[in-house]
Amino acid sequence: MGGEPRSGTDPMLSIPCPWCGARDEVEFSYGGEAHVQRPEKPEALSDAEWADFLFMRQNTKGRFLERWVHSQGCRRWFNLARDTADNRIIASYRMGEKPPEDA
Ligand SMILES: [Zn+2]
Repeated sequence: MGGEPRSGTDPMLSIPCPWCGARDEVEFSYGGEAHVQRPEKPEALSDAEWADFLFMRQNTKGRFLERWVHSQGCRRWFNLARDTADNRIIASYRMGEKPPEDA
């Protein structure tokens, strides 16, 4: 992640699937920013607003909510709260659930 080469001694990131528990990151696929709302009336948007929706995503330093799918496991989607500064996983939670308050 982040394009940084991994040193050989780094432990593999372990991602907590809400259904399966912690698994190696190789079992998962990244799905982008979580909680992006699709516009209710896309035809009412200007081209600039539509482009905003399609392409503009937050690039937060710190706590970031993102979607992952356990593609090599239960194949279910879930959300992950991650700290982009130190790559620490704060919490995982199921689709439709609110992010944990303290995450
Ligand atoms: Zn799973």
